[in-house]
Amino acid sequence: LFITFEGIDGSGKSTQARMLAETLGDAGHAVRATREPGGSPGAEEIRRLVLEGDPERWSAETEILLFTAARRDHLERVIEPALAADEVVVCDRFADSTRMYQGLRAPGLREVVDQLHKLMIVREPDLTFIIDMDPSKGHSRAKGRNGTEERFEDFGAGLQEQMRAGFLALAQEFSGRCVVVDGDRSPEAVAGDVARIALERLA
Ligand code: C5P
Repeated sequence: LFITFEGIDGSGKSTQARMLAETLGDAGHAVRATREPGGSPGAEEIRRLVLEGDPERWSAETEILLFTAARRDHLERVIEPALAADEVVVCDRFADSTRMYQGLRAPGLREVVDQLHKLMIVREPDLTFIIDMDPSKGHSRAKGRNGTEERFEDFGAGLQEQMRAGFLALAQEFSGRCVVVDGDRSPEAVAGDVARIALERLA
């Protein structure tokens, strides 16, 4: 089973991905926990290329190509082999993040993301948790963190508001695999819902 976590910055999705991986491991499942952008040595190099340094360095189109290249490497080297070995893959962000963060940046870009996905990625998750969160809360949380690359700090909560709406629309677009979870609760309460849904799928 391929499980992904999506949501705005500061929504708590990374914490939830970690907690689910632990719970599934405790329940006896072989689990591969991974993340994007990154997740394989090559993809982590591309992550650094994109997220570190001058944010104006790449055009939106080039950024889509770079993230798709990173995803392709991650898929070939980590995700597909793990799924083939019957491991449960728990991934913090996947293609939906590119559909949102790059795809919503200008009219027409979502189509570029989708076309490249169709050519080079194809794979979709079996189950996607969209951790929904009030952007003002998510934003202040993300801002309060140390040592993480925070790309959208200067854009304020406005962009995150757009992203939140985008993720909720995405949940409807891919309603067969997406579950929206209210992230504005204690991590344990959110994790309880997430674990119940994931374990049902695995039963
Ligand atoms: O999820 P994580 O904190 O690792 O993401 C790092 C940064 O990269 C975040 O600020 C996120 O918004 C951004 N990002 C992006 N495009 C993606 C995925 C993440 O701009 N496709």
